[in-house]
Amino acid sequence: MINAIGVNDQVSLVMALRKKGIGDIEILRAMELVPREYFTHPAFKEQAYYDIALPIDCGQTISQPYIVAYMSEMLGVDKTHKILEIGTGSGYQTAVLSHLGRRVFTIESHRELQAVAQHKFDELELDNIVTKVGDGFDGWPEQAPFDRIIVTAAAPEIPPPLIGQLAFGGRLVMPVGDRRDSQKITIVERTNKGFEREQTLPVRFVPLVRHNEDMG
Ligand code: SAH
Repeated sequence: MINAIGVNDQVSLVMALRKKGIGDIEILRAMELVPREYFTHPAFKEQAYYDIALPIDCGQTISQPYIVAYMSEMLGVDKTHKILEIGTGSGYQTAVLSHLGRRVFTIESHRELQAVAQHKFDELELDNIVTKVGDGFDGWPEQAPFDRIIVTAAAPEIPPPLIGQLAFGGRLVMPVGDRRDSQKITIVERTNKGFEREQTLPVRFVPLVRHNEDMG
């Protein structure tokens, strides 16, 4: 079924992303390698290749494909990079990054989501992904520093531990804003002189929330 707001397969989705301005061939290739329907909730399989965010369990969302591609492009990943991702969610963004970088360490606060995502990575044999349940506000100090850090949930400010875990020459991409309607993709680069910060696209992400025991 082809619908005005979406397309019905992986190849058409990638073509739509090209039209929307995603120009990096490696990103388009990675997007083509990851079957999004595998990561969407079974109730939303029909919409898997629409360029929209969709609900997943635990009141969370799988990101819009354009935003996954855009943030991956802004992150500027290469095959040597060790990446930290905060907010595994469905694991869709993680799977895309696993084709771009050397290793992806990903943290999710909901145990149920982490378990489901880990199972999918195993089935797809994405063996350069390491998952854990935890609080992304703290980053992953035992594995730091990271060449690239991506946060797929929003907060009013970038958590300081994440900035501290960025390697020299490293880059961080995250939605930042106090309110849901004022978030912008924020890019931070760690240079020899310090940190450079730039804000780009307005976005709407679920909030980054402190992990607690109720989450499993
Ligand atoms: N990239 C994901 C988007 C998931 S939505 C995808 O494409 O599916 C954001 C995710 O961040 C949610 O799963 C939410 O549970 C998780 N999250 C929120 N706060 C967190 C925190 N403090 N630490 C780790 N994960 C967190």
